[in-house]
Amino acid sequence: MRYLEKIKQLFSFAPAPQVVATLVLVFSLSCSHSPKTPVEKTVFLMDTVVTIKVFTQDSHHRTTAALIDSAVKRMEQIEALADNYQSGSELAMINRSAGQGGAALSVDMAALLERAWFIDSLSAGAFTAAIASLTELWGFGRHTEMSVPDPGDIQAALQHVGRRVFTLAPDRVYIHDPLGGFDLGGIAKGYAVDAAVEFLQRRGMADAQVDAGGDLRALSSSFTAGQRNVYVRHPLKSDGFYGRFPLDNGAVATSGDYERFFMAEGVRYHHILDPHTGYPARQCRSVTIVGATAALCDGLATAVFVLGPEKGMALIESTPAIEGLIIFEENGNLIHKISSGLEPVFEILHE
Ligand code: ADP
Ligand code: MG
Repeated sequence: MRYLEKIKQLFSFAPAPQVVATLVLVFSLSCSHSPKTPVEKTVFLMDTVVTIKVFTQDSHHRTTAALIDSAVKRMEQIEALADNYQSGSELAMINRSAGQGGAALSVDMAALLERAWFIDSLSAGAFTAAIASLTELWGFGRHTEMSVPDPGDIQAALQHVGRRVFTLAPDRVYIHDPLGGFDLGGIAKGYAVDAAVEFLQRRGMADAQVDAGGDLRALSSSFTAGQRNVYVRHPLKSDGFYGRFPLDNGAVATSGDYERFFMAEGVRYHHILDPHTGYPARQCRSVTIVGATAALCDGLATAVFVLGPEKGMALIESTPAIEGLIIFEENGNLIHKISSGLEPVFEILHE
């Protein structure tokens, strides 16, 4: 709950005009050269603060505000269908179909599972949507009192993890393993950000941004070109930034071990799980991915976090149009690896 209080507190005071802070990334937009201030809305969605801003020459702000409301509705639709905790959600219905024949897929769910499958393949299973048996056992986001599960239960849950437990057809999914199931927590927020941006774009908006905590995407016109900066949170300082880089068009996602965790006997247990060991992935502190769509960035940030700095950076460098920053610890010091395309524009801010 402290996390929620903190973000609510951040947004209850008017943020400094050039900085809108989230706990993970900050979009800093100097509006001084823009012909218009944006029409914007901030809501609490998908367990985070979501801010949508649209820059338009159109003086009919009410029309733009109505478009933003519809973009929020679009995100709410995705939140509702991908929600593991609601027994009536499409995801819950699909999971209940495990071992009982296939389940029909809505267009959004088919797209989500198809993107998840792609990232699963790219990362050799470091990211997998078929991880519900394990995430339910750990219970992040479900239980108020957290504890480390029994090792035998972790081994048992691992038998039902990974893409071997299901087959994806264009509009149906078959979960063969009765104890298998999906958790879309590693990709749904990114997909929802894409859906909102693409909705606004289809309605003729050419300059917009959707910032959902650790996932964001921007479209830029001459109004804002060269003025957006993405600030990457320092993994050890909740109010500090590790660095920043400019972003006109594209998406960014960060996964960190400081987002959701508990401590047990001095050890930090967080919510990004290694599907090979069944335990939280240990090699990274935070991973930031830059790319064309927020769904891909979101999923890849989780995947790279699990793969660790060496294999993770190799994946970033070998994936076209993807850049990234991996922050990790070595001999008690925080260090980073940065991809060749991001390095020239990345400015380190911490001392
Ligand atoms: P956040 O949603 O907090 O920004 P991430 O995008 O890194 O963080 O996603 C973490 C979520 O992804 C977990 O809460 C869980 O639902 C799911 N998850 C955890 N481990 C994996 C994994 N190895 N592959 C796919 N999804 C995962
Ligand atoms: Mg993710």
